[in-house]
Amino acid sequence: MREFELLKHVYAANPALPARVTIPPGDDMGALRLETPEVLVTVDQLVDGLHFDLATTPLEKIARKAITRNLSDVAAMAAVPAGAVAAACLPRDFGDARARRLFDLMRLVAQSYDCPLIGGDISMWDHPLVLTLTVLAESRGVVPVLRKGAREGDVVCVTGELGGSLLDDNGRVHHLDFEPRLKVARALASNPATRPHCMLDLSDGLARDLGHLCDAAEVGEGERLGAELFADRLPIRPIVHNVCDGRAPWVHALADGEDYELCFTIDAARAAKLPRAVAGCPITQIGRIILRAPGSPAPGNPASGNKPAAKISLILSDGSTRSVDDLGWEHHGP
Ligand SMILES: [Mg+2]
Repeated sequence: MREFELLKHVYAANPALPARVTIPPGDDMGALRLETPEVLVTVDQLVDGLHFDLATTPLEKIARKAITRNLSDVAAMAAVPAGAVAAACLPRDFGDARARRLFDLMRLVAQSYDCPLIGGDISMWDHPLVLTLTVLAESRGVVPVLRKGAREGDVVCVTGELGGSLLDDNGRVHHLDFEPRLKVARALASNPATRPHCMLDLSDGLARDLGHLCDAAEVGEGERLGAELFADRLPIRPIVHNVCDGRAPWVHALADGEDYELCFTIDAARAAKLPRAVAGCPITQIGRIILRAPGSPAPGNPASGNKPAAKISLILSDGSTRSVDDLGWEHHGP
């Protein structure tokens, strides 16, 4: 199939688009009329063999993940999706019917999040399927929440459950079926009583991603932030407890990645009044932001006093503390 025909099919199927789409797909460019002058942009690739396995993953799930992975980034900023454009490199043997279906499915998923597909590009090549999606988003009255902003003493919170994103849980596999946390992010950020100091979405595992929030913080000269987490407070996805791979459930919660939950920090006074669920989404307080020991990370560093040198430490149920800086996303390709 020629690219033109496929795109024509995709656009012909476009139902009534939101009023903000002022130039619908099919022209050289699409256009959106946005409510706010500042536009947020994110782009993400979904690669066969890296983010999914085309041989074993239903097309619906691939289409869904292509959209929701981007929307998770929109949620992390507490923004609202406005529209999207998609680019695909399809293997030559992919087939016309499957190509049409893939784009139809992406369009439907995008539409279900009020994020119309307003343009696209398709190429054929001799390599695995690559889907690239760019999403435009708006702040619509809520200042975006950035990664910087963590402060010493902040409480660390996460939405939902962590770990086991690749496990089949009665036909549901989290990394393909997750719900981007758009509503809870907006609800948190728009209310002064709950607005986070900083926030990101968890893609590489809590241990690594929380490290990004610590690194991004604007602190005094020579100061470094870290975090102390409590193992028994982690909201571990129940199916993780069925895994017998010799790793403790908390290792999965901290390291598996692709949770697509939100991690944010908020000062202790407001955390004390934070509800257990916001916009129907559970919120768990799992630890706090601390000032790390200055100087080299060494046990016995005389400058360290009682402060830990580790960036992220975990306090286990027996009271012992260990660094979890070595944990994080490991490529788990198919
Ligand atoms: Mg992200």
